[in-house]
Amino acid sequence: MEYKRSSALFAEAQKVIPGGVNSPVRAFTAVGGTPIFIKEAKGAYIFDEDGNQYIEYINSWGPMILGHAHKPVIDAVIEKAKKGTSFGMPTEVETKIAELAVSMVPNVDMIRFVNSGTEACMSAVRLARGFTGKDKIIKFAGCYHGHSDSFLIQAGSGAVTFGTPNSPGVTEGTAKDTLLARFNDLENVKEIILQNEGEIACLIIEPVAGNMGCIPPVEGFLEGLRALCDAHNILLIFDEVMTGFRLAKGGVQELLGVNADIVCFGKVIGGGLPVGAFAARKEIMLHLAPTGPVYQAGTLSGNPLAMAAGLAMLQELNQGDIFQSLHDKTEYLHKGITKVLTEAGITHQMNRIGSMISVHFCDEPVLDFASAAKGNNDSFKKFFHGLLASGIHIAPSAFETWFLSDALSYEDLDKTIKAIEEIAETL
Ligand code: PMP
Repeated sequence: MEYKRSSALFAEAQKVIPGGVNSPVRAFTAVGGTPIFIKEAKGAYIFDEDGNQYIEYINSWGPMILGHAHKPVIDAVIEKAKKGTSFGMPTEVETKIAELAVSMVPNVDMIRFVNSGTEACMSAVRLARGFTGKDKIIKFAGCYHGHSDSFLIQAGSGAVTFGTPNSPGVTEGTAKDTLLARFNDLENVKEIILQNEGEIACLIIEPVAGNMGCIPPVEGFLEGLRALCDAHNILLIFDEVMTGFRLAKGGVQELLGVNADIVCFGKVIGGGLPVGAFAARKEIMLHLAPTGPVYQAGTLSGNPLAMAAGLAMLQELNQGDIFQSLHDKTEYLHKGITKVLTEAGITHQMNRIGSMISVHFCDEPVLDFASAAKGNNDSFKKFFHGLLASGIHIAPSAFETWFLSDALSYEDLDKTIKAIEEIAETL
């Protein structure tokens, strides 16, 4: 494949945008090479500026669960745009998507919309602090909740890909209020809570981690967190930015049957436009301004185009059973990849839940950040570039998850498995 135009565009971009990108992992730093610049995408495929076509497993890092340029979403945005793009005043579509979202997600009465997953998590933590009157938070090593200061402590995703899980610029004062726990280790969480009795406002977690590859919770872990939070008056925040409206209509709360106190959303809920949201029971949500004292706001929050895209997306997901179809496709891919890698004698682990899946080149089960970090990065680089050259697009870092879309056909999945069979010889 030729990447001439992508290379030229990347060179131009680097002159005016730091690293040539507006979000670090896009720069291919972890895997080397030149990032591909995207021209357009449709269904299960993405096309770069050089005319190369790829089968999509990133899907804008999650949102495009029904494939790219999905017609009902595009039509809704076009119709809305004709009537103006932003008013900074209330619109009916905000209530419509709020009603639908609240009806799909268990255990929440109200929702507030923001512009990104970062904003959703940042606001959820402020709300938890305001509601409980306590300052400290617990987060898990390798979980990523956006780039707000409190979360850049042993963060996953791009933060770990770039070797700065603790970012310069985060003050010691902020860092000291973030307590760090090990994913899937209930005893560790219990210890931290006991050492900080009466000081912890909330525990924030990706209930299925997706930012150190995909790591599902071990049996009893989420239930154990729920019980600890109840016993110590701590609010449990599920960051469902990746998992919300992806693993089930009602996200992980529905799929695994554990309730959170505040739930954060992003990605799918915006249908590919910049949207985040957080939701909770009424008594918690009414603590937000203007009904309560916890301040939170946004000029473009509830933007009509974003709400129209999100509403069209949720309406599609609310009918039919795309989650079963996605599960079946992902399971098929999982089995196919496991077979070819095992037959080729490649040491690896695969983690999967619903339509989230990741491949780790290591020999022990990947259950937390420490085990995810043991993956062989040289093998991952070869794997990534081999796939790209075969027209298959996965995230350019081992600390990311693959997100399948329902636009993928079984033929696409077979092509992917076949490509991996060929790449396996080079790993
Ligand atoms: N939480 C999780 C679980 C995420 O995966 C992400 C982004 N990948 C965020 C929060 C931050 O969302 P955004 O990039 O929209 O700010």
